[in-house]
Amino acid sequence: MLTNEELWQAVLAQIQLNISQANFVTWFKNTSILSQKENKVVISVPNAFVKEWLENKYNKIILKIIHSLNDQIKEIEFCVGKEETKNIHKKQHKETILPEISQLDFQEFKIDQETNLNPRYTFDSFVIGSFNELAYAAACAVLKNPGFVYNPLFIYGGVGLGKTHLLQAIGNDVIKKFPLKKVKYLSSERFVSEVVAAIKNHDMAKFKSKYKNFDVLIIDDIQFLANKEKTQEEFFHIFNFLYENNRQIILSSDRPPKAIQTLAERLRSRFEGGMIADISIPDFETRVAILKIKAQEKNINFSEEVYQYIASIIQKNIRELEGALNRLIIFQKLNNTIPDLEITKNLFKNLISPPNKVITPKKIIELVAEFYDLKEKDLLNNCRKKEIVKPRQIAMYLLRNELKNSFPSIGRKFGGKDHTTAIHAYKKIIEEIKKDKKLEEEINLIREKILNC
Ligand code: ADP
Ligand code: MG
Repeated sequence: MLTNEELWQAVLAQIQLNISQANFVTWFKNTSILSQKENKVVISVPNAFVKEWLENKYNKIILKIIHSLNDQIKEIEFCVGKEETKNIHKKQHKETILPEISQLDFQEFKIDQETNLNPRYTFDSFVIGSFNELAYAAACAVLKNPGFVYNPLFIYGGVGLGKTHLLQAIGNDVIKKFPLKKVKYLSSERFVSEVVAAIKNHDMAKFKSKYKNFDVLIIDDIQFLANKEKTQEEFFHIFNFLYENNRQIILSSDRPPKAIQTLAERLRSRFEGGMIADISIPDFETRVAILKIKAQEKNINFSEEVYQYIASIIQKNIRELEGALNRLIIFQKLNNTIPDLEITKNLFKNLISPPNKVITPKKIIELVAEFYDLKEKDLLNNCRKKEIVKPRQIAMYLLRNELKNSFPSIGRKFGGKDHTTAIHAYKKIIEEIKKDKKLEEEINLIREKILNC
């Protein structure tokens, strides 16, 4: 049987694949399995709010995952484990001792309070291939002399391809090489909420002076600054100050600066003033190599054909490769057998598929609207504004290309337009992609989102 920790880790690994990182951290931080008895698992959560949320939103999926790992379990219960740390020392009875949190391989627990960096993300564990070598080379150049080579360093690429890992590895390496430098890592969402709080508390001066103090400022997922004018303005001032004082700024985004809609022009040109490097999708051989290296790190080895099979079914996301590997490891622990190709195929046939795996026209329209920061209804009405016509044509093009929808049905979906409008849009985008590299890149990014949704 799996220990409490092993079981919970397996559950977390699965859940992580199904929900956003932000949600994952919010709802699953400081959770653990308290006990598994007969057909019931008791899960410890940090407070009543999380308890209610998990009960309402995640009960079913958690039970489903636990049940798939141990079919004896028919029921789960959440309980607020307030005095966790104290209890560890006090309690006498073995079965009531809460697992030590540090035993869980739950990355968020180890974050450095000062820098916000997670020591797990290092260059030692970062696999380099042609898909990310430019970004890696730029990172190395920055590390030689932070603030003086490429400023800012702007890394972009799709979900789960290593942006956060690379950014944090740079931060961790700076600290190792230059212990006196002040490094700060944060997500742009956190930055936004700090700006909002500073405004509310009339604390802007303090906020700014804090940020002006950093030698290396790393902001992840900067695309979330789109539409946040006030935050962009504050960031612009901080950026200029740091830049002029040769402090290093490192940014990541899911798209290049040009494709971040509603980003103030002056910020965009700042972002483009440094080095922009992309991370693309690793090729088959690299995916196999990543699997092997990660398996090795966990002291386990599978057959070549198993690695190749996983690499052939998971193509676009390194996080998912890790998830698949974890699943194999759990199988091995549960059954004491190293899964062969046949077992692997079987295991992945039953893999809980992430919700919304079916791509619908509605989903594509939603993703295109989101990408261009528009409302869905803007795409569906008759507005002739240039900023809307193009995304609308792209959405029509994608419905045709990805879903093979007929032109009349595409026309109908966009507010009852004629099929000739849909044909025109489709042909126009095909023509434009041939001439316009940037457009092609944007459409590829949207396509990636469609495939990852
Ligand atoms: P992103 O920020 O681009 O969404 P992450 O940096 O969170 O992606 O990467 C997802 C997972 O894949 C992480 O667990 C990370 O450690 C792993 N990973 C990503 N790129 C690599 C790589 N080149 N080598 C090894 N592991 C990687
Ligand atoms: Mg990330």
